Amino acid sequence: MTAQLIDGKLIAQNIRAQVAAEVAQRTAAGKSKPGLATVLVGDRVDSAAYVASKQKACQELGMESFHHHLPADVSQAELEKLVQALNNDPKVSGILVQLPLPAHLNEERVLELVSIEKDVDGLSPINIGRLAQKGREPLFVPCTPSGCIYLLDQVGVEIEGANAVVLGRSNIVGMPMALLLVSRNATVTICHSRTQDLPNIVHRADILIAAIGRMEMVRGDWIKPGAAVIDVGMNEKPDATKKKGYRLVGDVNFDEAKELADWITPVPGGVGPMTIAMLMKSTLRAAQIQQGELSNE
Ligand code: NAP
Repeated sequence: MTAQLIDGKLIAQNIRAQVAAEVAQRTAAGKSKPGLATVLVGDRVDSAAYVASKQKACQELGMESFHHHLPADVSQAELEKLVQALNNDPKVSGILVQLPLPAHLNEERVLELVSIEKDVDGLSPINIGRLAQKGREPLFVPCTPSGCIYLLDQVGVEIEGANAVVLGRSNIVGMPMALLLVSRNATVTICHSRTQDLPNIVHRADILIAAIGRMEMVRGDWIKPGAAVIDVGMNEKPDATKKKGYRLVGDVNFDEAKELADWITPVPGGVGPMTIAMLMKSTLRAAQIQQGELSNE
């Protein structure tokens, strides 16, 4: 194995410890605890599990969590009324609407409604718009892509001037990831399902971010020797030796890629733990902005 592992689990634990220490300091000084409101619509098992781990993280870090579970057939008006109420609630520092929403709901309108000062997921059009514009700063950036940047920074991978290839252009991962890399002065290529000759494009990447949801699709011989590989994918691979009947694997064939890359994230234990750690960091930041300790410009 030539690649060094990027230990997302450990790096995320360090972030969580820092956030917990700051929260404890704030509460000891008589300030209110940062609070995260989670909104889950319907009964998707994966979404419920993600929300539960976000609530658990809040408890572990000494923050408040306020959970709202709405039925799958909730009306747009009712959901919007809840988001407005959370915007107006001073105990709520951050609002996270778990995506995807059921098809009858207008996701864009809901995200538009979240106050930018409470948009800890960084998905409101204003925060994303600011991220896309040169010289503007969003108040929050989406948690998974910001976690990827944090990992690269932690291990000292040079982003400025690097050729970065992002596989995937979703609103929550691929596109904000590409924008963040551009803002850090990387030269970025965004690939998607219609991209021609993916292996050759990937082979030019000093930094490769894979976020396509296709099990182990990126093969070892696509990887440029010395590259940093960040694998966002989480795919369930059948495995009879596991209690659940599957194990998690990424979008990159890890065993092959680790022979070529200099740095690589494992799945699990790479990007996954970073998403929640960055959300907790953002929730603390939201509380600081709302209490006037940080600028809301
Ligand atoms: P998504 O919304 O399904 O988007 C997938 C993207 O990949 C799309 O842009 C799609 O292209 C592109 N794509 C699909 N097949 C492709 C192919 N064969 N070649 C090239 N591009 C292809 O997925 P997502 O929400 O961004 O998530 C991506 C992966 O990351 C999933 O495995 C998900 O579970 C994982 N994830 C992990 C975390 C975490 O915390 N670790 C967080 C979020 C997501 P088109 O745009 O052309 O359709």
